[in-house]
Amino acid sequence: MTSPDTTPVLRTVSPGDLPGALCPQTDPELFFPEIGASPQAAKKVCATCEVRPDCLALALSLGAVMGVWGGTTENERRDLKRAARATGLQQICRGCEEPFTATAPNAVYCGDLCRQKARRATKAASDARRTRTSSRRAA
Ligand code: SF4
Ligand SMILES: [Zn+2]
Repeated sequence: MTSPDTTPVLRTVSPGDLPGALCPQTDPELFFPEIGASPQAAKKVCATCEVRPDCLALALSLGAVMGVWGGTTENERRDLKRAARATGLQQICRGCEEPFTATAPNAVYCGDLCRQKARRATKAASDARRTRTSSRRAA
């Protein structure tokens, strides 16, 4: 049986599909450096990309995808996963409830999208409570 961690999968999802992704505005070839070539040019683009955390989270959740995603190469993502397994950093996202590889011990969301969604939900709940409280006071 093949393991999703060791068999590169076809890139049916691409980081460029993420809304706000910078890579579609650059040379896509940068993100697939030849063996032995430097991934630094792609990493430089990723460093200023606002969806970088989600891109990395997506790549980690997809298994072994080729190329630079979220500022990491395939080998670096393999190392991140290995380290996460060794330190028990495999988590279930509190937002989407999907498993993800945490890059920090206190990570509870798989990426910025889930974190922002949770923040908006908390704000909506506290706004609703405030409205209820003030309408009760007014009654
Ligand atoms: S982090 Fe890099 S690979 Fe991911 S969407 Fe942004 S530019 Fe593309
Ligand atoms: Zn999530």
